[in-house]
Amino acid sequence: LKIKFCGAARSVTGSKHLITLNSGKTILLDCGLYQGKENTRGEENESFGFDPLSINYLILSHAHIDHSGLIPRLVKQGFSGNIYCTDATKDLCKIMLVDSAHIQESDAAHYNKRRKRESRPPVQPLYNIVEAQNALKLFKPLAYNQWHVIDAEISLLFTFVGHITGSAAVNLQLKETNKTHNLTFTGDIGRKTHQIIKGAEPFPQAEIIITEATYGDRLHEPANESLAKLLNIVVDTCVKNKGKLIIPAFSVGRTQEIVYALDQLETAGKLPPIKVYVDSPLSTNATEIIKDHPECFNQQMTDYLKKDASPFGFNRLVYIQDVEESKLLNESKEPCIIISASGMAEAGRIVHHIANNIENNKNTILIVGYSEPSSLGGRLVEGNKEVKIFGTIYKVKANVQVMDSYSAHGDYQEMIAYLKCQNPQQVKNIFLVHGKFEVMENYSEKLKEEGFLKITIPEKGEEIEIN
Ligand SMILES: [Zn+2]
Repeated sequence: LKIKFCGAARSVTGSKHLITLNSGKTILLDCGLYQGKENTRGEENESFGFDPLSINYLILSHAHIDHSGLIPRLVKQGFSGNIYCTDATKDLCKIMLVDSAHIQESDAAHYNKRRKRESRPPVQPLYNIVEAQNALKLFKPLAYNQWHVIDAEISLLFTFVGHITGSAAVNLQLKETNKTHNLTFTGDIGRKTHQIIKGAEPFPQAEIIITEATYGDRLHEPANESLAKLLNIVVDTCVKNKGKLIIPAFSVGRTQEIVYALDQLETAGKLPPIKVYVDSPLSTNATEIIKDHPECFNQQMTDYLKKDASPFGFNRLVYIQDVEESKLLNESKEPCIIISASGMAEAGRIVHHIANNIENNKNTILIVGYSEPSSLGGRLVEGNKEVKIFGTIYKVKANVQVMDSYSAHGDYQEMIAYLKCQNPQQVKNIFLVHGKFEVMENYSEKLKEEGFLKITIPEKGEEIEIN
């Protein structure tokens, strides 16, 4: 069989890996969007590096847009096979792909206004809402922890990986004429200390592993101090400085973790009496879906639910859907917490909140997740004193804080602990994806120390034959 690394190769977004069996059958693992720049149009997202018509199946590890966001375009260009994923991933994709289509449409409309002034031809969105809805018809949800026979050559098992609700490692048995290959694609690897969902669970022995390396060179802050640190930032910003605390957060996963943390502080009587706003329709809808999938909850969350039936809500927390209500937040002078998307602050309502609050030194912008260096979140993390937002330069006077204990990705120790279920002698090759090249080189050395024999860092577009 052959594996072609079509995205997230020596980079973090755009996850896409193509398996071709000797029989010619093809399986695409993930179909993610490249993210991080101001817009998502461009060569990386316009061409796949393969013919969508030639793909037999798509298997999706989880719903994050950098893993799922080009599915509607794949279908638009002729893919008509089954899309396999877990139940929760399907439910999350229902809202996330439509939301992504909405962003593609409004981005294209925005550019076309300018192009019209410049007498240039209009651009098309990568896909529209109808095309996203069409793609959803191909989704075939499958349960965790049981082998599913896809056809005579392919069997599939989803195992828990602890990254976001619905996320799974993709374990495949691929039967070729002379032998069966056991291949595991870990998708994004989460953490044992995840606040809400089950941690990563062991997966069957594999001979080929495709695994992520996002944090292959670092260790996270201990998670047990995260509640106290969050409370400190809230008190400093909203009580001492009487300012606003602005938190960019991914709609799925991070937002619910932050809300759950605040809910725990509230239940414990520690949260100061300030308003908390979750200003993102997608986050609001995602919260409902996460509540609907208790099969993904960890023990701590299951126990907490016995004390507090609504872990993502308390009486001073307001979910905002309406854009006019969102704008009203700009005029309010009251201290408050605003949680909004997107996580890297390169799009969505959060960009307006940052623009409105960044030049006031009473306020804090708290970054709680990975941000591409080129994104607004990334530029703030780097400590830039001025940032450009919507074409205007803003002085960074607000306090910028970073908390990485909420990361949905394991650090290198956590990733290695996850791979401990494998006998390294039996793993013929580990392919590292979803990380920066220097980070991957570092992680590769660490894996060798653990006894893994062969580690490959494929380039984008590289196809590797496996015997
Ligand atoms: Zn992810």
